[in-house]
Amino acid sequence: MGELGIDALLLSAGPDLVYLTGYEAMPLERLTMLVVRPEGEPVLLVPRLEVPRVREQPDLFVIEPWDETVDPIGRVATLTGGARRVAIGDQTWARFVLALQRALGDATFLPSSSVMARLRAVKSATEIDALRRAARAVDAIATEMRTRPFAGRRELDVHRELVERMLEAGHERANFAIVAAAGNAASPHHEPAARVIAEGDVVLCDFGGTMDGYCSDITRMFVVGEPSAEVRDVYAVLVEAQEAGVRAATVGTPCAAVDAAARRVIADAGYGEQFVHRTGHGIGVEAHEDPYLVDGNDEPLVAGHAFSVEPGIYLPGRFGLRLEDIVVATDHGPERLNGAARDLAVVG
Ligand code: ZN
Ligand code: ZN
Ligand code: ZN
Repeated sequence: MGELGIDALLLSAGPDLVYLTGYEAMPLERLTMLVVRPEGEPVLLVPRLEVPRVREQPDLFVIEPWDETVDPIGRVATLTGGARRVAIGDQTWARFVLALQRALGDATFLPSSSVMARLRAVKSATEIDALRRAARAVDAIATEMRTRPFAGRRELDVHRELVERMLEAGHERANFAIVAAAGNAASPHHEPAARVIAEGDVVLCDFGGTMDGYCSDITRMFVVGEPSAEVRDVYAVLVEAQEAGVRAATVGTPCAAVDAAARRVIADAGYGEQFVHRTGHGIGVEAHEDPYLVDGNDEPLVAGHAFSVEPGIYLPGRFGLRLEDIVVATDHGPERLNGAARDLAVVG
């Protein structure tokens, strides 16, 4: 904050608050706000009825409950009195931001990511352990799914199974479970629906959740019965592209170069137009966070960056393929946190 000339950091419900305090505030019309200034103790303003949910950490912050009849915006304004540059949580509700802008007069507002993104992007050993545990939990599920029947079940049924398995495997929350059969997989974020999976379908499963506060995210591909030669060939390109992306993810390499390494393999095979998204995203307390592996992001990877490498090839109306692992950049090279088999799983 000092380097950036920021006088106050204001965090409402959201991942930055969780990262700094461990407190997952309910997103409510009642304001919860951590007020951090370069000097003085951080203050966590909490509606009184929510106080029992906050774990006290007096060495980190002071809890200040507010009563129903008090104006918490006025209190934030008092605590940040005179602040010229204020960083406010990226996901803070507009009603709070607008009220604070009125209350703080001529202060300049910046997104909290200007302070927090770089802190959150570089993981400590403890955080990497948490990501590894979450990755192993979904690895086990991906492996079990290879022995499960797919034919005759709806996408929705497989989706529910993935959600249940994530919870059983120790995730406190399932964040998403995309199940997309045949042509549906050409839409990368397809919403699983009533489509019944049939013989010959290629099925994309992309699922993840939160375990001990840190996210998992994995994509594996399944095919009901023997795949066609075309599916095999395109999948081989994808495996090679993902491998190239992972290999490129060394400390010091710009994020854009990792994207380019994966993209080049797909483009050389003639499918460049069919890879319609970036190669990866950072992962931590949020499923998507810095660093983003995308063209134009010249930030070099540093040890402790954790991110997905997930190229895809999408053929509208026919099928879509994606392969995703979480990778950590370390001083001795890229480390994949996911270890589940990456071949196309032939299922019944
Ligand atoms: Zn995605
Ligand atoms: Zn994913
Ligand atoms: Zn992902």
